[in-house]
Amino acid sequence: MEEFRKDVIQEILYTQLIAIKNLNEALKKDEFTMPDSVVHARRQLAHYFLNNGRKPLLGLNEWVTAMLQPVKTWLPEAEDFINLEAPLWENNGWSRDSEYFLQAYGRPEDYQELTVLKVLEYCRKNNDQEGYVLFRSFLSDPEWAVVSEEELNQMAASFSDEFLKQQIRACYEPFAEWEQARKCPYCGWSLLKKSGLWHCGHANVCFDLEGSNKWSLQTAEPFPFGKDTRVYRLRPGIHRYTLIPGIPEKRIAENLSKIHRVERYPEQDRFDLAVYLDNRNIYLDVKCFRSPDHLATYIERLGPERLEEFRTHAWFVIPREYASKGYINRVRNRIELQVNVCEEDQLYQLLKEGVVS
Ligand SMILES: [Zn+2]
Repeated sequence: MEEFRKDVIQEILYTQLIAIKNLNEALKKDEFTMPDSVVHARRQLAHYFLNNGRKPLLGLNEWVTAMLQPVKTWLPEAEDFINLEAPLWENNGWSRDSEYFLQAYGRPEDYQELTVLKVLEYCRKNNDQEGYVLFRSFLSDPEWAVVSEEELNQMAASFSDEFLKQQIRACYEPFAEWEQARKCPYCGWSLLKKSGLWHCGHANVCFDLEGSNKWSLQTAEPFPFGKDTRVYRLRPGIHRYTLIPGIPEKRIAENLSKIHRVERYPEQDRFDLAVYLDNRNIYLDVKCFRSPDHLATYIERLGPERLEEFRTHAWFVIPREYASKGYINRVRNRIELQVNVCEEDQLYQLLKEGVVS
């Protein structure tokens, strides 16, 4: 696909996703005002259809209907960027594929909870690397995904900084229904029953990861809290965009630290991991995209300076649970740029053999 056309399709998907979310939020308010983003997204799509000899979607209803249909029914040319069988919007939120697309194409503020971004900004400003690592470590550990009030207090008490104490609390919400829920065997968050099956969060990402692993959401255990315990869980956006990708990051850090000196979120999150080797340091970014196309989109959108780092001392690492057969080849075929990218197990091997040293 030509570069300009590729950009147009990606931009269209992105604009529709932001618009449908804004429309959903506007509908929740007492007084409804049509968000500008919806007007803009519909116009952009109509314009694209007209220019490509297709009948534009005229009314709001028609547009919303399209958002709920598999993408192949209205934008089949988006094949390289999103799963055509999935709709953009389902179960009252972005579909799983939409979420992956946004992480690849959007900006963190489109999907990430503000609390996490605020903490990053604060720690960068105050050069508080230790506070930041502690903060992120809690948010990427399944053991802290659902906690009692006492545990939440303990967590807050482990920060000396007042702002971070407050912000860690702000990452959690009361979870009164814990007795009806189950503990996710992958991420530790709350499973709730929908149509007879246990689901992890709105987009049920952990269900996607089930296939390659030895656990099942359907055999999950209840939470071990005593009766009348006040329970809190991570806010859904933090669960989805910080905890879930944080799990493989944590595992990779632990595995590497058996042999090497490792630092998590070095230089206030410039990378996920730094590995200090004898002769030099390497930096890792752990990328949790289910589809290699989403990783390719993400890489293509990095600026030249950032890309240069991934040609020299930095690596993209695909965790085990995301690395399907042929993943790396698919990434390489899609992008014309030479970058360092490997699967988790390959990384361990390369380091053992001293290939990366
Ligand atoms: Zn889960």
